[in-house]
Amino acid sequence: MFSIESATHTAPPDLGRANRILVVEDEELIREMVVLALEDEGYRVTVAEDGTTALGLIRDTERSADQFPFDAIVLDIMLPQVNGLDLCRLLRHQGNPVPILILSAKGSETDRVLGLEVGADDYLTKPFSMRELIARCRALLRRHRLETATQPIVLQFGDLALYPQECRVLARGEQVNLSPKEFRLLELFMGSPRRVWSREQLLDRVWGVDFVGDSKTVDVHIRWLREKIERDPSTPEYIITVRGFGYRLG
Ligand code: CA
Repeated sequence: MFSIESATHTAPPDLGRANRILVVEDEELIREMVVLALEDEGYRVTVAEDGTTALGLIRDTERSADQFPFDAIVLDIMLPQVNGLDLCRLLRHQGNPVPILILSAKGSETDRVLGLEVGADDYLTKPFSMRELIARCRALLRRHRLETATQPIVLQFGDLALYPQECRVLARGEQVNLSPKEFRLLELFMGSPRRVWSREQLLDRVWGVDFVGDSKTVDVHIRWLREKIERDPSTPEYIITVRGFGYRLG
């Protein structure tokens, strides 16, 4: 059913420390084959046999991307206790950008879409070959490295500072606690100061094109965001309403 093909060693070795991969899989046979294949490629592998154990391994750490103990997660969907989709959803809700490759016995389009909708980066249907798994993991790590390398360490505007990799915002030197949607909104604004965004554009970028709901959602989140970052939310100096168009920063 599962073939252990030794993956070809044509790709250049990863520079620096070995990538750390968390494998969450309850089926012993698959788990062991995946671990063997990944370790054979030089990855440092940690295993969890169920969702709760995985959560424990992840939760013990800070939310900061630099301190997250894994560079990628290979995640089975059907798990005892907490399932893979919920685990994935939770990590994304916390703003954790770790690349996630979902494994599933189900191959229907719905599961695939569902997996990607909860924030997984890639999806592999069982049975799969170990060569395929290695190729996907390698691609995922490479893509993630490129993304984080081009991401600025800090975005600044006036008295605001936003750290994309740490999901952290300071307003006048004080830490502000934003929800993931508020954070994403502010990140978008701070990435293009003075650009006017329509409510529809903000919905597409922050909530996703599949979001069902109206643009009032944007207004509500903008109000919450202002309450957290503005000196006086009733006369905002950061998030400005552009009547008839939308919003802009500054
Ligand atoms: Ca399973």
